Amino acid sequence: MDTKCLQAMLQEFADVRDWDKFHNPKNLAIALAVEVGEVLELFQWLSEADAADVRINEQLKARVSEELADVAIYLLRLADKSGVDLDAAIAEKILSNGKKYPVDRVFGSAKKYTEY
Ligand SMILES: [Mg+2]
Repeated sequence: MDTKCLQAMLQEFADVRDWDKFHNPKNLAIALAVEVGEVLELFQWLSEADAADVRINEQLKARVSEELADVAIYLLRLADKSGVDLDAAIAEKILSNGKKYPVDRVFGSAKKYTEY
C-alpha cells in the first residue's frame, strides 16, 4: 500500500466534490468508528466457525473487503488531516510493541503487558 499515493487520491476525491470542508479530524474519527462498526456488523451473530470461513465464503469476503476499504480510507484520511505520518507511526508502534511484549515472556500467551 502506497500511503502517500492513496492519500493524494483521497484528497483529489474530496476536492473535486467540495467535501474537504467536512474532513476535519473529529468528523473523520467518527466516520472511522462507524466503518469499524460496519465490519463488526458483518460478523455479528455468526458462529466462530462461520466467521472463520470468511476466506472461503466469497459473499462474506466481498462485503468484508468493502468495509475494510472504508476503514482504511478513513484511517488514511484521518492520519493525513491530523498531520500523522502513518507509515512511520505504524513502524514505531511495531517496535514499541516488540519491547512491550518480548517473545520470551509472552510466547503463546494472550495476556496484556500489565499482567506479566
Ligand atoms: Mg461502509
